[in-house]
Amino acid sequence: MTHETENDQKDLNDPDGLKELISGARVVLWDFDGPICRLFAGHSAERVATDLVEWLEGRGLHGLLTEPERESLDPHAVLRAVDRRHPGSDLVAELEARLTQEEMLAASSARPTPYADPLIRTWTAVGPRPAIATNNSPRVVRKYLTDRGLLGCFAPHIYGRTQQLSRLKPDPHCINRALNAMGAAPDSALMIGDTPSDFHAATAAGVPFLGYARNEDKEKVLQAAGATVILPSLAPVLALLRTAPQA
Ligand SMILES: [Mg+2]
Repeated sequence: MTHETENDQKDLNDPDGLKELISGARVVLWDFDGPICRLFAGHSAERVATDLVEWLEGRGLHGLLTEPERESLDPHAVLRAVDRRHPGSDLVAELEARLTQEEMLAASSARPTPYADPLIRTWTAVGPRPAIATNNSPRVVRKYLTDRGLLGCFAPHIYGRTQQLSRLKPDPHCINRALNAMGAAPDSALMIGDTPSDFHAATAAGVPFLGYARNEDKEKVLQAAGATVILPSLAPVLALLRTAPQA
């Protein structure tokens, strides 16, 4: 049995859970990298993390990172680790600027998540307002959405990485900024994310969560974090909206 088949089976067994989650949403908060696109599809996030670590080493600063942090191959983990030791420093600002530069390059070769574009357009057309709540740079998100002709669906509600790196997800900061700006109650919103940090941020903000897992590994990690509704594809959401449009 393939991964897709297992998950399709699970969805058939629990169609009302998804329907209820979707019909209750007046505001849809999208994580960016994962649910909307694969930002680093043509441009390796691991290489970006390695470059950041090497840049620190070149300045004699690699002692700032522990071995697991150096080997995390996650640019945000590197950034957060340095920020914990030197919060708000010029060093952190420079690292953040380097990451934003890499993300801007990656945005040009990012691969749209299947069904994300039509889902965003369809959902917006039937009522709920979308926003972005991401750990990526808001500049990068704007570039990608502009290139896909989707900026108009979201603007101005794009909440991304700020200079306050301690407030990256799993901190609910970007979600709370979106809710406040849109005047939305947490339980009237829905967060779509692909990592435990998305799930924990949504839970901390009191926002229902829909997990998107493009492979079995991602699904297991989301499940272990506590997410209960996890889809291997956005297609069922689009199908639900098309067959039962919201009032
Ligand atoms: Mg993500």
